[in-house]
Amino acid sequence: MYLNVSQLLRESSGANRSFQVDEPLTLAEGTKATVRGTVRLLRTDRGIWVSAALESEAIVSCSRCLTDHAQPVHMLIEEEFFTRWDGGPAAGTASELSGDEHCRIDEDHVLDLTETIRQFYSLEVPMQPVCRRDCAGICLTCGVNLNETRCGCDAAPPDPRWGALLELASSSDVES
Ligand SMILES: [Zn+2]
Ligand SMILES: [Zn+2]
Repeated sequence: MYLNVSQLLRESSGANRSFQVDEPLTLAEGTKATVRGTVRLLRTDRGIWVSAALESEAIVSCSRCLTDHAQPVHMLIEEEFFTRWDGGPAAGTASELSGDEHCRIDEDHVLDLTETIRQFYSLEVPMQPVCRRDCAGICLTCGVNLNETRCGCDAAPPDPRWGALLELASSSDVES
Protein backbone atom coordinates (compact mmCIF):
# COMPACT_ATOMS: atom_id res chain seq x y z
CA MET A 1 0.00 0.00 0.00
CA TYR A 2 1.89 2.99 -1.30
CA LEU A 3 1.03 6.47 -0.08
CA ASN A 4 2.53 9.50 -1.72
CA VAL A 5 3.23 11.96 1.09
CA SER A 6 5.21 14.65 -0.74
CA GLN A 7 2.48 17.22 -0.19
CA LEU A 8 2.22 16.55 3.52
CA LEU A 9 6.00 16.62 3.98
CA ARG A 10 6.03 20.22 2.73
CA GLU A 11 3.72 21.23 5.53
CA SER A 12 4.67 21.85 9.14
CA SER A 13 4.30 19.52 12.13
CA GLY A 14 0.72 18.93 13.06
CA ALA A 15 -0.63 18.97 9.53
CA ASN A 16 -2.66 15.90 8.82
CA ARG A 17 -4.67 13.99 6.29
CA SER A 18 -7.12 11.24 6.63
CA PHE A 19 -8.61 9.01 3.99
CA GLN A 20 -10.24 5.67 3.30
CA VAL A 21 -8.39 2.73 1.83
CA ASP A 22 -9.80 -0.36 0.18
CA GLU A 23 -7.32 -2.50 -1.66
CA PRO A 24 -6.16 -6.10 -1.97
CA LEU A 25 -2.80 -6.88 -0.37
CA THR A 26 -0.66 -9.98 -0.07
CA LEU A 27 -0.64 -10.28 3.70
CA ALA A 28 1.16 -13.56 4.16
CA GLU A 29 2.51 -16.22 1.91
CA GLY A 30 -0.35 -17.30 -0.27
CA THR A 31 -2.79 -14.99 1.49
CA LYS A 32 -4.26 -12.14 -0.45
CA ALA A 33 -7.06 -10.24 1.21
CA THR A 34 -8.78 -6.91 0.91
CA VAL A 35 -7.70 -4.34 3.48
CA ARG A 36 -10.12 -1.52 4.16
CA GLY A 37 -10.47 1.21 6.72
CA THR A 38 -9.24 4.64 7.66
CA VAL A 39 -5.68 5.90 7.53
CA ARG A 40 -4.66 9.11 9.25
CA LEU A 41 -1.31 10.74 8.56
CA LEU A 42 0.16 13.31 10.91
CA ARG A 43 3.22 15.36 10.05
CA THR A 44 5.81 15.17 12.83
CA ASP A 45 9.26 16.76 13.18
CA ARG A 46 10.90 13.58 11.98
CA GLY A 47 8.47 12.26 9.46
CA ILE A 48 4.91 11.06 9.50
CA TRP A 49 2.90 9.38 12.19
CA VAL A 50 0.46 6.83 10.81
CA SER A 51 -2.70 5.92 12.70
CA ALA A 52 -4.84 3.40 10.95
CA ALA A 53 -7.92 1.37 11.79
CA LEU A 54 -8.06 -1.41 9.24
CA GLU A 55 -10.05 -4.53 8.67
CA SER A 56 -9.36 -7.60 6.66
CA GLU A 57 -9.97 -11.29 6.95
CA ALA A 58 -8.00 -14.48 7.24
CA ILE A 59 -8.83 -17.95 6.01
CA VAL A 60 -7.98 -20.16 8.96
CA SER A 61 -8.50 -23.76 9.85
CA CYS A 62 -10.76 -24.40 12.85
CA SER A 63 -8.70 -25.85 15.71
CA ARG A 64 -11.56 -28.22 16.63
CA CYS A 65 -13.12 -29.44 13.37
CA LEU A 66 -10.28 -28.43 10.98
CA THR A 67 -12.67 -26.78 8.52
CA ASP A 68 -11.33 -23.74 6.70
CA HIS A 69 -13.31 -20.59 7.31
CA ALA A 70 -12.90 -16.82 7.11
CA GLN A 71 -12.31 -14.81 10.28
CA PRO A 72 -12.32 -11.03 10.47
CA VAL A 73 -9.00 -9.44 11.39
CA HIS A 74 -8.94 -5.98 12.97
CA MET A 75 -5.78 -3.92 13.01
CA LEU A 76 -5.10 -0.74 14.95
CA ILE A 77 -1.82 0.62 13.68
CA GLU A 78 0.23 3.35 15.37
CA GLU A 79 3.62 3.79 13.77
CA GLU A 80 6.00 6.63 12.94
CA PHE A 81 7.68 6.71 9.54
CA PHE A 82 10.89 8.65 9.10
CA THR A 83 12.38 10.65 6.33
CA ARG A 84 16.09 10.08 5.85
CA TRP A 85 17.01 13.28 4.15
CA ASP A 86 14.86 15.73 6.06
CA GLY A 87 15.68 17.96 9.03
CA GLY A 88 18.82 19.91 8.10
CA PRO A 89 22.13 19.44 9.97
CA ALA A 90 20.50 17.47 12.77
CA ALA A 91 19.08 14.99 10.34
CA GLY A 92 19.38 11.45 11.52
CA THR A 93 22.11 9.31 10.13
CA ALA A 94 21.40 5.79 9.10
CA SER A 95 22.48 4.51 12.51
CA GLU A 96 20.37 7.01 14.42
CA LEU A 97 17.37 5.91 12.46
CA SER A 98 18.15 2.31 13.02
CA GLY A 99 14.52 1.56 13.69
CA ASP A 100 12.64 -0.79 11.48
CA GLU A 101 13.78 -0.71 7.91
CA HIS A 102 10.20 -0.61 6.73
CA CYS A 103 9.43 2.57 8.67
CA ARG A 104 11.16 4.83 6.19
CA ILE A 105 9.80 7.17 3.65
CA ASP A 106 11.79 6.80 0.46
CA GLU A 107 13.41 9.52 -1.65
CA ASP A 108 10.34 9.73 -3.88
CA HIS A 109 8.26 10.65 -0.82
CA VAL A 110 6.46 7.36 -0.91
CA LEU A 111 5.46 5.74 2.34
CA ASP A 112 4.93 2.01 1.97
CA LEU A 113 2.51 0.72 4.56
CA THR A 114 2.49 -2.87 3.30
CA GLU A 115 5.11 -4.36 5.63
CA THR A 116 3.58 -2.68 8.67
CA ILE A 117 0.13 -4.00 7.78
CA ARG A 118 1.64 -7.47 7.34
CA GLN A 119 3.17 -7.36 10.81
CA PHE A 120 -0.03 -6.23 12.51
CA TYR A 121 -2.02 -8.73 10.50
CA SER A 122 0.16 -11.65 11.57
CA LEU A 123 -0.23 -10.61 15.22
CA GLU A 124 -4.01 -10.40 14.95
CA VAL A 125 -4.71 -13.68 13.20
CA PRO A 126 -5.95 -15.98 15.98
CA MET A 127 -3.62 -18.81 16.98
CA GLN A 128 -6.40 -21.25 17.85
CA PRO A 129 -9.35 -20.20 15.75
CA VAL A 130 -12.74 -21.83 16.07
CA CYS A 131 -15.29 -21.68 13.27
CA ARG A 132 -18.04 -20.95 15.78
CA ARG A 133 -18.24 -20.84 19.54
CA ASP A 134 -20.13 -24.12 19.87
CA CYS A 135 -18.14 -26.05 17.28
CA ALA A 136 -18.43 -29.73 18.18
CA GLY A 137 -15.11 -30.69 16.62
CA ILE A 138 -14.30 -34.04 15.14
CA CYS A 139 -14.87 -37.45 16.67
CA LEU A 140 -11.55 -38.68 18.02
CA THR A 141 -12.50 -42.26 17.33
CA CYS A 142 -13.86 -42.23 13.79
CA GLY A 143 -12.88 -38.75 12.61
CA VAL A 144 -16.25 -37.47 11.39
CA ASN A 145 -17.06 -33.80 11.68
CA LEU A 146 -19.58 -33.73 14.53
CA ASN A 147 -21.05 -30.46 13.29
CA GLU A 148 -22.29 -32.23 10.20
CA THR A 149 -23.10 -35.71 11.33
CA ARG A 150 -23.39 -37.91 14.38
CA CYS A 151 -21.54 -41.11 14.83
CA GLY A 152 -22.07 -44.03 17.16
CA CYS A 153 -18.79 -43.62 19.02
CA ASP A 154 -19.88 -41.27 21.80
CA ALA A 155 -21.50 -43.85 24.09
CA ALA A 156 -18.34 -43.88 26.20
CA PRO A 157 -16.05 -40.90 25.67
CA PRO A 158 -12.54 -42.29 25.26
CA ASP A 159 -10.98 -39.45 27.21
CA PRO A 160 -12.70 -37.62 30.10
CA ARG A 161 -11.26 -34.32 28.91
CA TRP A 162 -13.57 -34.54 25.93
CA GLY A 163 -16.61 -35.02 28.12
CA ALA A 164 -17.44 -31.32 28.31
CA LEU A 165 -17.05 -30.97 24.58
CA LEU A 166 -19.40 -33.85 23.92
CA GLU A 167 -21.93 -32.37 26.32
CA LEU A 168 -21.68 -29.13 24.42
CA ALA A 169 -22.24 -31.01 21.19
CA SER A 170 -25.38 -32.73 22.43
CA SER A 171 -26.84 -29.56 23.99
CA SER A 172 -26.43 -27.73 20.69
CA ASP A 173 -28.25 -30.60 19.02
CA VAL A 174 -31.22 -29.98 21.32
CA GLU A 175 -31.28 -26.28 20.43
CA SER A 176 -31.25 -26.81 16.72
ZN1 LIG B 1 -15.02 -25.93 13.84
ZN1 LIG C 1 -17.12 -41.36 15.88
